[in-house]
Amino acid sequence: MKQLRNNVIRAGLGALYFTGAHHLLRPIFAGVGTIFMLHSVRPGRNGAFQPNRHLEVAPEFLRAMLSHLRCLGIDIITMDDVYRRLTERDFSRRFASFTFDDGYRDNRDFALPVMREFEAPFTVHVTSNFAQGVGHLWWIALEMVIARVSSIEVEIDGIATRFDASTPATKQAAFDRLHDWLRGLPAGDDLQREITALCARHGLDEAAICPELCMSYDELKSFADDPLVSLGAHSVTHCNLAGQSPEVASQEMAVSRARIENAVQRPVVHLAYPYGDRLAAGPREFALAKAAGFKTAVTTRPGMLFPENAGYLTALPRVSLNGNYQDERILPVLTSGAATAMWNGFRRIDAA
Ligand SMILES: [Zn+2]
Repeated sequence: MKQLRNNVIRAGLGALYFTGAHHLLRPIFAGVGTIFMLHSVRPGRNGAFQPNRHLEVAPEFLRAMLSHLRCLGIDIITMDDVYRRLTERDFSRRFASFTFDDGYRDNRDFALPVMREFEAPFTVHVTSNFAQGVGHLWWIALEMVIARVSSIEVEIDGIATRFDASTPATKQAAFDRLHDWLRGLPAGDDLQREITALCARHGLDEAAICPELCMSYDELKSFADDPLVSLGAHSVTHCNLAGQSPEVASQEMAVSRARIENAVQRPVVHLAYPYGDRLAAGPREFALAKAAGFKTAVTTRPGMLFPENAGYLTALPRVSLNGNYQDERILPVLTSGAATAMWNGFRRIDAA
C-alpha cells in the first residue's frame, strides 16, 4: 500500500510539473511562506531495503531547494522571524523556514555546510532523550532487525504471526505491517516493550542506535553556537502526545524544553510534535503547546502558510522534503503550493 501511495504521489507531482499547472496555481496557493520539514541529511546509500528513506535527503537535494528558493527571491528565515512576520502581518516578501526533527548528527555534518553556502538559518527540533543518549529510535531499530533476518515472528493481539523477510520486497512488506502495528499500540510503553523484545530476540544492541545517530548535549552546545542554528523542542521521549494524559503531554513539552535550555543555555521557544500527524497532534495538543508558552509549534500536516495561520501559531503546517521524491523537477511544484493544496482539498487552514 505504501508503495502504491508513493507512486500516486509521485505521479501527482509529475502531472503538476508536466502540465505546468503549478505555474497557474502559484498565485493562489503559494501563500505567504513555507516551513520545510526534514529529518536526516546524508549522502544516499545503496541497498534495496531502505524503509526509512523518506526521512533522509541527500545534501545535493537540499542544495537544489535552497538555490531554487534563492532564484525565486524567497527569504530564508528563522522560526523567530516566522513568528514575527505572521503576528505583525509582514507579508511584503515571501519566506521559507527550514526545520529538522529529532536531532541527528548528520544535520551538523551534512546539512549545516549546505545551509552555510546560502547563509540560511534553520531550526533543529531536539528530542531530549535522544540528546541524552537514552532515547529509542524504534523505527530505525525495526529496520535494522528486519534487515538482518530472513523471517520474523511477532505476537500480534495474542497471535504469533510470522512474516517472510527473505527479499527486499517482503522485508518492506513486513516493515510496513509492523510499523503500523507498533504505531497503533495504545501507549508508548507497549511500543517500547515490543521493540526491546524484538531487538533482544535478534541480537540487536538497541541502546547503541541513539548515541550513534543523534547529537549529545555537548555536541548540541557547540552546534548551537553557530549563528545559523536554533534549537527547538521535540518532546522528551518522542511519544505520541495525543495518546498521553494531558499532564504527561504537557510534561513532555515542558521538560524537553527545560532540559535543552539548561544544556545549551539558550531559550527554546519552538516545538515540533513527534509524528505530528492528525493522530499525534490535535486541538488539545495545540492548546497545551500554547499554554506551555511556545511561540510556534509545527505539525507534519502538509500546507503552506497563509495570513490566517497567525491565529493558529501552535498548529502550523509544513512541507516535507521527502527522501522518496528527490527529483529536482518537483521543487517548483512544492513551492507553488499546488501539491499541498490538493492534499488539503484546497482548504487553507487545517487546525481542527
Ligand atoms: Zn521526530
